[in-house]
This record gives sequence, C-alpha cells and structure tokens, in this order.
Amino acid sequence: MSKLFIIPKDIGNIDDISSRIKEVLKKCDFLVCEDTRVIGIFLKKLGIEKKDYISFTEYNQKTKTSIIINMIKNGKIGGLLSDSGTPLISDPGFYLVREAINEGIEIVPLPGPVAFITALVGSGLPTDSFTFYGFLPKKEGRRKKVLNEAISKRETSIFYESPYRIDKTIKELNDIDPERNIVIARELTKTFEEFIRGKVSDIIKKEWTKKGEMVLLIEGVRDDKRKN
Ligand code: SAM
Repeated sequence: MSKLFIIPKDIGNIDDISSRIKEVLKKCDFLVCEDTRVIGIFLKKLGIEKKDYISFTEYNQKTKTSIIINMIKNGKIGGLLSDSGTPLISDPGFYLVREAINEGIEIVPLPGPVAFITALVGSGLPTDSFTFYGFLPKKEGRRKKVLNEAISKRETSIFYESPYRIDKTIKELNDIDPERNIVIARELTKTFEEFIRGKVSDIIKKEWTKKGEMVLLIEGVRDDKRKN
C-alpha cells in the first residue's frame, strides 16, 4: 500500500532523533519539506544521503499536493518534514494529509519532538487539560480577544511566541490579570534552555534574555479563584 510518513525533526538537539525516524528517512524515495537547505543539513548531521525534495509551503501546498499524491500512488515512498519539530503543528501539512487520506494513502505518523508538549511537561502547570493556540494573532483586536479567552479558561493555554512580541504580550496579560501564573519556556533542548515561571506582575519586572524560540503557557483559572 502507498504510504506517506509524517516525520518529526529536532527542535534544536539532533540527539532527540530516534532510530525509527532515521530508518524511515533512509527508506523514503522523496521528502516533502519547507526549506530544502534546512533538511539537507539535517540529513547530513544524521549521515543519511541526499534525497529528492519537493518544496512545500503554506503558499504552494495546494498545487504541490496533487503531485505528491500521484508520486505516492505510483509506488514512491514519501516523507513529510517541517523546518523544526512535528509537521502540521503550526506548520504546513494538514491539507496534504487530508487529501492523501481521501485518496486511500496510508498515513504513518512518527512520534518525535514537538515544542509545545516539551514546554508543557516542564512548565509545572496542570497537564490534564490544555488548549494549544499556535501563534497569537498579530492584529490587535483578535489578539486581545484570544488572550481574554485564554485567561478565562480553567485549563492551561499554550502559545508559540516570537521574541520580538513577548514584551507586548506580557504587558497585555498584566493589564488583564497580573496575579496569573505564566511560564515562558525558551530554547528547549538547546544549550541555553530556560523556564521562566511566576506571576505576570513579577515576570514583567524580571531580567531575562528575550531571544531565541519560545513557548508561552498561561495557567487556567484555579477553582479557588473562580467567581462562579
Ligand atoms: N512544528 C513545530 C513543533 O512541532 O513544535 C513548531 C513550528 S512553529 C513554525 C515554530 C515555533 O515553535 C517557534 O516560533 C517557537 O514558538 C516554537 N519552538 C520551536 N522550537 C522551539 C524550542 N526549541 N524552544 C522553544 N520554542 C520552540
């Protein structure tokens, strides 16, 4: 049966790549990826020879999907990768996977690195129930709406955030609920991995390096603090 493998890449530490991921990468006839250079470097680090690549971004995914499906139907083994972590998680791939399923292609997702789960389990915030929002919207009105929604939830809320916008987001959170516990998980799996934990009103005053990749987590409303 024709197969499409969903292949996670590291989020900063090549040693997190499993032997199963390496074996699957070796047997793929072609790799679907956002940046062929990034994946070229990844394969080189793993000692795997170059593959045929199909560039696949949020802008060209619809046109590329039919090409990829035809290749798999013609017997080629395909692997979908993204620049970091797990494809489809704040990265392209959903459209391809849905269309491939409709065409009878078997989807084989491999477990592996994903930034928001790594951040959640190290955050110290409740893990029993959570909402992952991906990136916050850039437009002011939408941002405020999403932040207000997250703050009103019982469960942990998780966002991908840019170092250029984190100050603004913390200020916005401080306006809504300065007492709320938040966690910023930065540079996960890398040398300067760091968790910044505390109340918004304390974190806003704290000195920390606002660089690198980061995940923002907001604690849900605690039962003892709920008004209703
Ligand atoms: N597909 C990826 C995954 O599985 O997590 C996410 C891709 S998304 C385009 C990139 C965002 O993920 C970054 O801007 C950052 O918010 C988060 N991220 C990726 N790597 C990270 C890391 N090592 N530490 C903290 N956050 C990270």
